[in-house]
Amino acid sequence: MPHAVSRLRSARMALDTKPKLDRGEERKPRCPGCRLSQGYCMCALRPRLQTRVGVCLIMAEFEALKPSNTGWLIADVVQDTAAFGWARTEVDPALLAMLSDPQWQPFVVFPGEFAEPERVVTQLPTRMNAAAPGSRRPLLVMLDGTWTEARKMFRKSPYLNALPVLSLQPEHLSRYRLRRHIRDNHFCTAEVAALCLELADEAHAAQTLDAYLDVFTHRYLQAKQTLPVDEGNDAHRVLRELSVSSC
Ligand SMILES: [Zn+2]
Repeated sequence: MPHAVSRLRSARMALDTKPKLDRGEERKPRCPGCRLSQGYCMCALRPRLQTRVGVCLIMAEFEALKPSNTGWLIADVVQDTAAFGWARTEVDPALLAMLSDPQWQPFVVFPGEFAEPERVVTQLPTRMNAAAPGSRRPLLVMLDGTWTEARKMFRKSPYLNALPVLSLQPEHLSRYRLRRHIRDNHFCTAEVAALCLELADEAHAAQTLDAYLDVFTHRYLQAKQTLPVDEGNDAHRVLRELSVSSC
């Protein structure tokens, strides 16, 4: 069965209010499984991991339609990923049900300076303290869209107001940036999710998501320039090694 972001994309495609995304590229057929152009498909490389952490993506209006959206990659890798479209005036009852499900302990991943200080946390429960009786599984609530859209979703979603806000600290961000050789402080949704997985002691899932994102980025850019895929590059090698170690 297609994953949550894929289903949201199909539902969005069926509406007639589609914006013109990737103008000129629409003629090229894309794989429905990974959204890459023909010849660049990476469906065979998709890892599927069982993690204690779940992800709940709340997606801005056109986000699921963008072939470069990385929430899709999170849904590929993290088995318990749900995705909901955001609207200012209504909320999907299934989203509210998930947020109040007693198996989950939701955290809104967002910079702490935008929330009341008493809501802000900087750590996630790790596997060690997951053994405590009655402990719930961490659910990462991620607002997937441009920064302007994410801020709007954060401000105008009253059902998020009572939840703790997981604020990534500068030291987490800079350590991650250095390790991944990211030049600026802009992180895509999949990178933020990988960082959060690491905080929750899910190192293997974090590294797998990072490697999978790198493979996607390589193939996406090669496809744009009609260049061949380099299956022997670092990204592919790391992803293969991680897949072997999880067997
Ligand atoms: Zn594919």
